[in-house]
Amino acid sequence: MRAETTPPVDVVVLGAGPAGVPAALAAADAGATVTVIDAGERPGGQYHRQLPREAGAARPGVLHHGWRAATARFRAFTTHPRIRHLAATRAWLVERDRDGVRVHTTGAHRATVTGRTLVLATGATERVLPFPGWDLPGVLTVGAAQALIKGQGVRPGLRVLVAGTGPLLLASSSTLLAAGTPVAAVLDASGPTTWLSAAPAAVLSPGKPMEAAGHLAELARARVPYLPNRAVIRVEGDGQVERAVVAEVDPDWRIVPGTLRTEPVDAVCVSFGFVPNVGTAAALGCALTVEEAVRVDAAQRTTVDRVLAAGEVTGIAGATVATLEGAVAGAAAADRAGYAVDRVRVRRLVRRRDRERRAAEALLRATPIREGWITWLDDDTLVCRCEEVPYGRVRDAIAELDARDLRSVKLTTRCGMGLCQAAMCGSTVADLLRHATGRPPADAGGLAHRAVADPVALGRL
Ligand SMILES: Cc1cc2nc3c(=O)[nH]c(=O)nc-3n(C[C@H](O)[C@H](O)[C@H](O)COP(=O)(O)OP(=O)(O)OC[C@H]3O[C@@H](n4cnc5c(N)ncnc54)[C@H](O)[C@@H]3O)c2cc1C
Repeated sequence: MRAETTPPVDVVVLGAGPAGVPAALAAADAGATVTVIDAGERPGGQYHRQLPREAGAARPGVLHHGWRAATARFRAFTTHPRIRHLAATRAWLVERDRDGVRVHTTGAHRATVTGRTLVLATGATERVLPFPGWDLPGVLTVGAAQALIKGQGVRPGLRVLVAGTGPLLLASSSTLLAAGTPVAAVLDASGPTTWLSAAPAAVLSPGKPMEAAGHLAELARARVPYLPNRAVIRVEGDGQVERAVVAEVDPDWRIVPGTLRTEPVDAVCVSFGFVPNVGTAAALGCALTVEEAVRVDAAQRTTVDRVLAAGEVTGIAGATVATLEGAVAGAAAADRAGYAVDRVRVRRLVRRRDRERRAAEALLRATPIREGWITWLDDDTLVCRCEEVPYGRVRDAIAELDARDLRSVKLTTRCGMGLCQAAMCGSTVADLLRHATGRPPADAGGLAHRAVADPVALGRL
């Protein structure tokens, strides 16, 4: 079957999450024609992941925050006469020329979509840290747990430990409890001083401490202990998770001797933050920040003409910021395509976005990943699961073969050469290199940047 070439539109939006939906609406409301491409069956992205329509959920909003506003946005989005939504469709290649962009897609709509401007709202991938046993069935990220619960109505286990660092520990534990999953404990590798250093977030966005307090109250009601300075450092079981080894950790996340104990559980949900999904932006030549997010100006324009970006792809900051950035980006894209936009409204959005982003960045700075996690690894702990490369081999490549950048580690070990193309191990290898050499690798992130964003049949090429 040949791919359809669609008539050119003013704005192409890649992603229909909290950033992509308001971007499409803002551009369409200004008069622009818009095509939205998204891998999901329904709009909402990672945050408002929805059950398939066939599930016939009686109360689809029960596990969601801000559901009423979100459904109003989804209704406006799906019924807007100037928005075309290509659902269950993946963009595998984006090309650019003087007149705009061409997006090649696979999935439900095999097409070449052309547009005058592009808004990248591709979100972020969850960061995962390896530890012995992390590849056993039953260890999953909180995002995967959320996808099971919200997208399939399936609980991840019957007795679950939640572990890692950052604000999502609390939010995701609430979702697990709301779905009726027994949570044994929430282990936060960071200490209580974390929350003190996040104080600027409370000043800039007073809703955040209230939200955290609400989650803590839910944990208390369900008698789930929230334990700071604790980590799951190993998971054991015969073919699936049967128990987790838990330890007290110091401020650098090194194990405090004599504190190991074993917890019988059948699932471990981990959260160590996110990595912006910048592959397509990098392939288009958009400059990145030192945090490996897409660099944007106040109007969400990237360094490449006609390419804008919004949401987690421009830096991890949560759903509120993504929504505000999307609306700003959509207006700027319509403006670039020659439509009149409501500048007073945009200025208001920009002010709120800036305040909320500063709050989110304060929270993020307060919960960094500490290097002590590397001491949890055994020589045979897999670092790259696709190519089955153990930690010992990566360490030896750095120490003995003098592999001092990501590309050399990849070529000497095969790390990052598998199906996920380093989406999972790229940040881990960068951390191992930084730890061994004392400086960040010069080609940080480079392991995962590809022009082709998605596996595609040779026939399409
Ligand atoms: C477990 C969990 C709990 C969370 N809880 C909270 C919370 O309580 N509060 C909060 O503020 N935030 C929370 N977040 C974070 C929140 O989900 C994100 O901030 C938000 O979803 C970012 O929106 P986005 O539009 O930038 O990206 P996303 O929501 O990730 O949307 C990106 C979209 O782009 C699509 N896409 C990407 N690449 C392609 C491609 N090549 N082709 C086609 N489609 C593509 C994806 O399918 C996706 O639909 C949570 C996240 C998780 C995982």
